[in-house]
Amino acid sequence: MTLFPTSAIMCIWTILHHLPIISSSFLRCKLFNRSIHTPGSLIKFSMSPRILFSRSVMSDDAFIDAFSRIGLTDKKTKEIIKNKKVSKSLFDIINEAPKPDSIYDDKTISLLHALAVECKGADVPNRHLVTNAIVDGRLKSNLQVSEAYKYVNSHPDANNSDMEKHSGVGVEVTEDDVRKHIGNYINENKQQIEAKRYAGVPALLGEVKKIPELKWAAPQLFKPIIDEKVLALLGPKDERDVVKKEKKKKEKAPAQKEKTEPVRSMFSEGFLGDLHKPGENPQMYPELMKEHLKFTGGKVFTRFPPEPNGYLHIGHSKAIMVNFGYAKYHGGNCYLRFDDTNPEAEEEVYFNSIRDIIDWLGFEPWKVTYSSDYFDELYELAEKLINIGKGYVCHCTAEEVKAQRGMKPDGTLGGERFACPHRDRTPEVNLAEFRKMKNGEYKSGEATLRMKQDLTSPSPQMWDLVAYRVLNAKHHRTGDKWLIYPTYDFTHCLVDSFENISHSLCTVEFRLSRESYEWLCDVLHVYRPAQREYGRLNITGTVLSKRKIAKLVNEGYVRGWDDPRLFTLEAVRRRGVPPGAILSFINTLGVTTSTTNIQAVRLDSAVRNYLDSTTPRLMMVLDPIKVELVNVNDDFKEEVEIPYKPGDAKFGSRKVSFTKTIYIDRSDYRDNVSAEYFRLAPGQSVGLMKVPFNISVVKVDKDDNGNVTKIHAKYENEEHKKPKTYIQWVPEDNLKISEVRIQNQLFLSENPLALPEGYLKDINPDSELVYKNAIIEPSFAEIKAKSPMNIPIEGSEFNIPEKGGPYTVRFQALRVGYFCMDKDSTDSDLVLNRIVTLKEDSKK
Ligand code: ATP
Ligand code: MG
Repeated sequence: MTLFPTSAIMCIWTILHHLPIISSSFLRCKLFNRSIHTPGSLIKFSMSPRILFSRSVMSDDAFIDAFSRIGLTDKKTKEIIKNKKVSKSLFDIINEAPKPDSIYDDKTISLLHALAVECKGADVPNRHLVTNAIVDGRLKSNLQVSEAYKYVNSHPDANNSDMEKHSGVGVEVTEDDVRKHIGNYINENKQQIEAKRYAGVPALLGEVKKIPELKWAAPQLFKPIIDEKVLALLGPKDERDVVKKEKKKKEKAPAQKEKTEPVRSMFSEGFLGDLHKPGENPQMYPELMKEHLKFTGGKVFTRFPPEPNGYLHIGHSKAIMVNFGYAKYHGGNCYLRFDDTNPEAEEEVYFNSIRDIIDWLGFEPWKVTYSSDYFDELYELAEKLINIGKGYVCHCTAEEVKAQRGMKPDGTLGGERFACPHRDRTPEVNLAEFRKMKNGEYKSGEATLRMKQDLTSPSPQMWDLVAYRVLNAKHHRTGDKWLIYPTYDFTHCLVDSFENISHSLCTVEFRLSRESYEWLCDVLHVYRPAQREYGRLNITGTVLSKRKIAKLVNEGYVRGWDDPRLFTLEAVRRRGVPPGAILSFINTLGVTTSTTNIQAVRLDSAVRNYLDSTTPRLMMVLDPIKVELVNVNDDFKEEVEIPYKPGDAKFGSRKVSFTKTIYIDRSDYRDNVSAEYFRLAPGQSVGLMKVPFNISVVKVDKDDNGNVTKIHAKYENEEHKKPKTYIQWVPEDNLKISEVRIQNQLFLSENPLALPEGYLKDINPDSELVYKNAIIEPSFAEIKAKSPMNIPIEGSEFNIPEKGGPYTVRFQALRVGYFCMDKDSTDSDLVLNRIVTLKEDSKK
């Protein structure tokens, strides 16, 4: 077979496109208002079209031609070409069929399409075995096609006879067989069927399909036979069935409502929904797939690979959820792999923080590994790279390397590229030089190991990347053992390969790296995992970069890396945001290949919704004024029972003592009544939450500055009057709060980094307001003792139980906001953070 350069292929393709090799003499096809006139077989081509087409970028026209050629209707074609991956597979399947220009019957077309849907654009070696078996009628059902596909896809050495075995070719199951097996099953499970009556029939259908002898039976046979047998056993439906059905309808009403809005899962749709199945990632050496699958057992294997050089931020929670979540969703495993190849930047505290945050988000690593675990293996592969002539030691300066890579004086790429003068030394020389690097005979900057890639490639990732550099740094785990360290480009793909990763999921800025990733695995002849890239998550109105946050911390703008106004995950956790709220939020955003830029207020709103269903309510006043009831005795006391969450019995309730002295918030009193003001004022009584009667002002004490110090009020317990509104109050036996910290956005603008005068000039002066006199009802102690309450949200996949920590003591302060306990609290001093406001601030 001759191999054609791409341009030649495209040229032949163009000719073919206009003069297709169609056996019928004329085929006129009107599609999408396009008319293709195709005269008969003017040119006979000796080469199989599959070779020509599979590598070129396919246009819709090419698909339409091919699909109409086999007899697909216009409507169906239109539908199929909406999905490019399926179209590509169908196109390849048609061309790999024994006679690519045949017209097929509907059944065959539908099975070929089913095969294309299984493949979803993947290149599957030996797929033609399945295609042929469809075309010659051996495979008759979708199930058979699916099983045949599964077999060839997981067996690089697939053969015809095993494929037939796996897909039940030639197995005949007659209607009598079906009747016999269903009859046996019903006899054996008579009691259960009688108990469930007709309500159990749908499940029964599922059960009998699992009977091994019926695996290859025609599916349409089952239902009528079951109906017939059940009728014989139970007799006709009677009121027992009708009653149950109605009752069920009533009970199910809310759930059914939910069903009409299908639960969206980021794992089953979008970017993650379209990923290949394990075993489907293409290999240069298919035999390596066998070993890979032996290790993974066909499970999904992912990894979350943080560099332990900083704290994780909110964007990383997406990466954590994508990697851990995807593996979990598919019953697979996810490694936590510390990518510790930059010993200078790594610190113990980051390792610990990262582990802790992943645990808090509810994920458990299958294994915790370190890139440094593989330094020996990586070194060996570096020597192999040299030995096969694909690696060389370079002594150029950084400037010289940049020039070789075509960097122009203005710092942009695009100049002429040329080879490093050391590129063509022999493997022996390179090996000796590399060992010198390893043995400390070169200082940092004097030598690097570079990959011998392809300088003619348009991708900068192919211009002889650095694989190893000299670095005289002590490593956190390997100590002084190494004086050279592998780069990200050398390490990442190889460690993914060592760890048998099926899906190496990273963010889009690594898109170009995919080429060098695959190149390196292939030249070193190791299993090639599939790197796939999704869009980053950014929160606007803040900064996420380590360097920028470090400045805020070091210059005292914030309390530390976990200051609740920041968006490191330590900060978000300290602020009181529950992990389940973060995961649900990310799930609703979904995963695509585009960057998601989200305003912080949108995260807040997701958090608010989450807290609304998971927190108890307490009464707290930020700025208390004493209220004394003038018309009750000194020992007056009414126990007021207040549910922790009205309408939700599982939260329980508490008793609050309503006595002669209570406290209300300063903002709930005014000297004058006005049109829009419904709270307490002379002449305007107000209701107190859950207290039977209103109170009204009798007299007000003020200090020299005119500030109210005490309100003398009347408890209007003689007659019930409906107040204009209710306010919260705190009893006399309250708890003093040392500090309530009301956190607002740290920056004034949505894009602080765009400010010419710098982001530090954009700091919101009111980003943290502190109340030092706040008080709260004593039931706070009970809530604290019961925390973490871990109240699940019904129907949510993201109920992440927390183990403990001050931030798990969360509550809604009625009319004030959602709060949690801050880590600065001690046994005697309570400090609270505001998690979010009660309602979205309309100004934002
Ligand atoms: P940053 O550059 O923001 O400091 P990083 O890429 O240096 O982050 P790593 O420790 O290398 O941090 O990241 C670990 C993983 O998290 C990588 O796979 C990276 O792609 C992913 N990741 C980093 N930032 C984001 C983000 N904003 N959104 C989604 N994933 C991210
Ligand atoms: Mg990084």
